[in-house]
Amino acid sequence: GGSDIECDMLVLGAGPGGYSAAFRAADLGLKTVIVERYATFGGVCLNVGCIPSKALLHVAAVMDEAQHMGTAGIRFAKPTVDIDALRKHKAGVVGKLTGGLAGMAKGRKVDMVRGYGHFLDPNHVEVEVTTGDGQDKTGEKKVIRFKQCIIAAGSAAVHLPFIPKDPRIVDSTGALELRQLPAKMLVIGGGIIGLEMATVYSSLGTRIDVVEMMDVLMAGPDRDAVKVWEKQNAHRFDKIMLKTKTTAVEAKDDGLYVSFEGDGAPAEPVKYNMILQSAGRAPNGKKVGADKAGVIVTDRGFIPVDAQMRTNVPHIFAIGDVVGQPMLAHKAVHEAHVAAEVAAGEKSAFDATVIPGVAYTHPEVAWVGYTEAQAKLEGKKVETAKFPWAASGRAIANGADYGFTKLIFDAETHRVIGGTIVGPSAGDMIGEVCLAIEMGADAVDIGKTIHPHPTLGETVGMAAEVAHGSCTDVP
Ligand code: FAD
Repeated sequence: GGSDIECDMLVLGAGPGGYSAAFRAADLGLKTVIVERYATFGGVCLNVGCIPSKALLHVAAVMDEAQHMGTAGIRFAKPTVDIDALRKHKAGVVGKLTGGLAGMAKGRKVDMVRGYGHFLDPNHVEVEVTTGDGQDKTGEKKVIRFKQCIIAAGSAAVHLPFIPKDPRIVDSTGALELRQLPAKMLVIGGGIIGLEMATVYSSLGTRIDVVEMMDVLMAGPDRDAVKVWEKQNAHRFDKIMLKTKTTAVEAKDDGLYVSFEGDGAPAEPVKYNMILQSAGRAPNGKKVGADKAGVIVTDRGFIPVDAQMRTNVPHIFAIGDVVGQPMLAHKAVHEAHVAAEVAAGEKSAFDATVIPGVAYTHPEVAWVGYTEAQAKLEGKKVETAKFPWAASGRAIANGADYGFTKLIFDAETHRVIGGTIVGPSAGDMIGEVCLAIEMGADAVDIGKTIHPHPTLGETVGMAAEVAHGSCTDVP
């Protein structure tokens, strides 16, 4: 059959992976079309993920901090919440960014075709055109013929099968809509997304229970960092139920009655006003008709790729959440650049040594590379240097003396191979540790680098100085 649109590069999905790939491909001279079912650029991250959650977390942090100024002799009244205004504020933050991306696309002559895309064969995608703010299909279809394609279809929240449909039961997208401020909320899944949303809602006045199947909250970073977070957040939670599952939810007029099973399970069903499902995200690989193009998709919905981000079909690439863990925006963006560069004929490969992770909770927990737990698991010999923020002037001044900065060094080479920071702005500081790891820095490199005083970032240098003494082959 014929096609309505022809292009060098078709990018499927306009999230951080998709728009980064499209912009790089266009910059490298490829005529690029991007297919996206939503009205705006930015995908999950900008519209219903990283950015709106951080807008709300910032508001929550300011509220929390104001309440703690009593010890400094400053007392604010109990805050009142205008939820409509807060929702508008959040939408404004998102709108600035998605609008900016639309402008950048226009400048590069990257056209967006709105709708659901699925492969017809290895060189054609059919788009069921959508309209409005949502994903309403118009019935119109467009066929796009492409020379090369990058699949950036992202991921979606997992919905537990036994949980009924009810406006009081939401996933992260629903929680970010701020339709209600419930008295009591159950968070199913104690991972980063769940705990970030718990932070927001609890700061706005909601009491929180968390239920988690595993024996820990926030599974990624070392336990010493999570312990600090737990101590600072104990006031937010009524119950944290570990090694526990939800088994049934009954939606009644007066509330949602939840039954539990496991170590922390209460004997009777517990009543909640709202439930957040944050029990993981699943890749969208099975939803794009990849088989028609001959692209392999795993049972779980991931699309396997090589270091050039190529799928098994050489002119079709895949990037971002749809290719695997960690499902993070910064990973998607870097993979996007590699795919676009390879497609444009450049030599490029994804060879990041480390990918940082951050929980933007209060306090933040950030980690990169080896944790002590990971090193132990692999039997890798490491040296650990921990600088407690109780010895940092700025941390004390900021009321954050509970935090710490920890660096992990390879015991043989003395190079830094990991870092964990807990405390305000930990996420902003972990970038220095990422750079140090990528550049093969050792404790002396970091310790002898003059950091500004007094800053929280200085603690990275101080942790390196702690390690200094234990490095035998350095002056
Ligand atoms: P997505 O952002 O998922 O984009 C995929 C796009 O493809 C979507 O817009 C979708 O509509 C579109 N699409 C899919 N299939 C089709 C189709 N068939 N046709 C047309 N369009 C299609 N990551 C961080 O790094 N930092 C954070 O702070 C952070 N916070 C988060 C908070 C929340 C609440 C959530 C849910 C996620 C968060 N993430 C965060 C993860 C981050 O959002 C993702 O890793 C990132 O969005 C992945 O980018 P992507 O381009 O792979 O996919």
